[in-house]
Amino acid sequence: MDRLRTHRSERSEPTVVAVGDVRFGDGSYPVIAGPCAVENETQTMRAAQIVADAGASMLRGGAFKPRTSPYSFQGLGEEGLRILQRAGRHVGLPTVTEVMEPGDVDLVARHVDMVQIGSRNMQNFPLLRAVGSSGTPVLLKRGLAATVDEWLLAAEYIIDAGNDQIVLCERGIRTFEPSTRNTLDVGAVAVAKQLSHLPVIVDPSHAAGRRDLIAPLALAGRAVGADGMMVEVHPDPDNALSDGPQQLDEAGFRHLMDTLAIGSRRGDIDRIDQEIVRLIARRLAHSVAVGRAKSERGLALHSPDREAEILDAVATAAAEHGLDPGLARSLYEVLLTESRARQRRAAMAPTGTSGRG
Ligand code: PEP
Ligand code: MN
Repeated sequence: MDRLRTHRSERSEPTVVAVGDVRFGDGSYPVIAGPCAVENETQTMRAAQIVADAGASMLRGGAFKPRTSPYSFQGLGEEGLRILQRAGRHVGLPTVTEVMEPGDVDLVARHVDMVQIGSRNMQNFPLLRAVGSSGTPVLLKRGLAATVDEWLLAAEYIIDAGNDQIVLCERGIRTFEPSTRNTLDVGAVAVAKQLSHLPVIVDPSHAAGRRDLIAPLALAGRAVGADGMMVEVHPDPDNALSDGPQQLDEAGFRHLMDTLAIGSRRGDIDRIDQEIVRLIARRLAHSVAVGRAKSERGLALHSPDREAEILDAVATAAAEHGLDPGLARSLYEVLLTESRARQRRAAMAPTGTSGRG
């Protein structure tokens, strides 16, 4: 393949795509959520409130729906764009919706913050060029039978038309397996991340086609390095005009967000633990230096007053942070014991040695 602007070798840093305050590709994990289709004002407002309250970063909702049958609900069109825009503003979330025709790109881009190219249109080249020249951030879904190379070449059309604000979205491909609507190709997420500097998110809703599999597929996407997720949420999925079986209701979406938060909290805990250990090492190094200075001046190593002062200070700080002051005292008694032992060893070591041991 020729040198491509979507390829990693073309940029030293991953591309970060900005949609309002939301960032894709900066290490955060934005969640786009909302109904499959904008059906009416009440349903969209309710969906927007649900997803905003549960911590979504962006609101989705289709106004122009690519339906397999011409007799299925086709979306509200321009009226749907206005409803989505009002709902997004009402809850303070940026919005994304699908555009199906090159001639509609300007209209759609005036109402939302990001335009979506649906799976069925991934190789609609005039549409790709039109969203490329619009400059609005693009969510580019992988075609249901497209290879990763074809997907990146579709993104290449958008970059070539002057727009690098592209988020790739894996939404499942057609395979022989009938138990899910599509097969979420997590391998392709890892491959696309390896080949391209563009952020990649997963859409477990259109992959699974059934709500009971959304959480495991969302976690799988995250595990292979996806930069975010898009999920369908409806206030009353049983009465949805499209994709009812895969849409989560309020409780389902809250549960999904809690499931994902557990993963990210564990990541935070790991980082905090590393930091705590680093700070303990630094604290002990300082106290060894103080011990050495004291012994050089012939001063006593053990200063009970200073230790009492330290224990009082940490107990007070603990109480200010809502912790048990007794816990802080116990932790610090262990630290101070270690600190005294190190100071003694340093004082006994011949001058000029590091005193470490
Ligand atoms: C959608 O996200 O509304 C949609 C139609 O998805 P896809 O293009 O992936 O089928
Ligand atoms: Mn849908």
